[in-house]
Amino acid sequence: MKTLQDLFEHEIKDLYSAEKQLVEALPNMVKAASDKKLQEAFSSHLEETKEQFDRIHRICESLDINPTSTKCKAMEGLIEECDGMINEDADADVKDAGLIACAQRVEHYEISGYGTAVRFAKELGHKDIAKKLQTTLDQEYQADQHMDNLAQGRLNKEAMA
Ligand code: FE
Ligand code: FE
Ligand code: FE
Ligand code: ZN
Repeated sequence: MKTLQDLFEHEIKDLYSAEKQLVEALPNMVKAASDKKLQEAFSSHLEETKEQFDRIHRICESLDINPTSTKCKAMEGLIEECDGMINEDADADVKDAGLIACAQRVEHYEISGYGTAVRFAKELGHKDIAKKLQTTLDQEYQADQHMDNLAQGRLNKEAMA
């Protein structure tokens, strides 16, 4: 790895792997959620994640990158923690609060990854790619904010009852 371009491509491969893993993992979060609104939040973010995977796939094509050899180990670990929560023997409301906590960790990881990637893309003069990455970054922020609202609303209160 010699140049910022090399590092940028490394980050792009990592994000490709992260989104790929999430497309497979999110359906389990949808199934595990009890609250209707939380279920809807997970399933709408699953649809967005499919879009994000297509978007990062097209970015790889435009940069002539083969991303298939890289695995994002951090996302693998975060998904393992999600699976742990899914399999936890817990009250429905408590489990929902736990699922939100896991999902927000995932979103925060994506936010930092895409934040870096947008910055590198701009620095390297990849204007069009920076815009595409920003679109995904905005969706990740919104997903995180949505989870925050659900957690701060009645979900945390129900878990205390
Ligand atoms: Fe994503
Ligand atoms: Fe990673
Ligand atoms: Fe996300
Ligand atoms: Zn957050």
